[in-house]
Amino acid sequence: MKSYRKELWFNTQSRRAFINITSQVEEALRESGIKEGLCLVNAMHITASVFINDDESGLHKDYDKWLEKLAPHEPVNQYQHNDTGEDNADAHMKRQIMGREVVVAVTNSELDFGTWEQIFYGEFDGKRKKRVLIKIIGE
Ligand code: ZN
Repeated sequence: MKSYRKELWFNTQSRRAFINITSQVEEALRESGIKEGLCLVNAMHITASVFINDDESGLHKDYDKWLEKLAPHEPVNQYQHNDTGEDNADAHMKRQIMGREVVVAVTNSELDFGTWEQIFYGEFDGKRKKRVLIKIIGE
């Protein structure tokens, strides 16, 4: 069995962002040389997500609005977590809802997606360097 590991780095200019990382995951799959197997992609931070959905900008604005309604950033003193001196309790909650990782089947050297599926990095506490892990195993 072969295995391949790669990290992607991000440093978003805004506090929150959604970034389509599908082509970077496909590049990692090409580099791995793996034809049949599984591809795991996960955020390496507890205030960021990796998820699969549609690459439609209206939907991404809807997500942001929905997440802000569920866990508003302000006022930061509404969260006990922020008593530690941090201001990112909302980002921990947003990450929990949007998920830590995705696993995609690798079939015939390609990511075996359903219709319209794309892989996204979801940033909820940005403006600093953060990373995503790609791990691919198979033959
Ligand atoms: Zn925190």
